Amino acid sequence: MIRCKEMVDFLSDYIDGELETAVRAEFEKHMGHCAPCRRFLDSTRRTVDLYARLEYGEIPDELKERLKTFLEARLPNPEP
Ligand SMILES: [Zn+2]
Repeated sequence: MIRCKEMVDFLSDYIDGELETAVRAEFEKHMGHCAPCRRFLDSTRRTVDLYARLEYGEIPDELKERLKTFLEARLPNPEP
């Protein structure tokens, strides 16, 4: 099982289409039952699309940090 915080680590690879099939399945399963993560994925995708259009190419580390901060602030009881 992927937890919300681990989800962040997979997110950029997921968006890039670089996750292994098994991991991807777990990731999508988590997205299926976790509304905050799903909203998060949607907004991240839009941001990444924007970056792609601006030709930065990949998700900058700064954005990844912001994703983690977002999750820590949003999730009521983040698991360790
Ligand atoms: Zn989640």
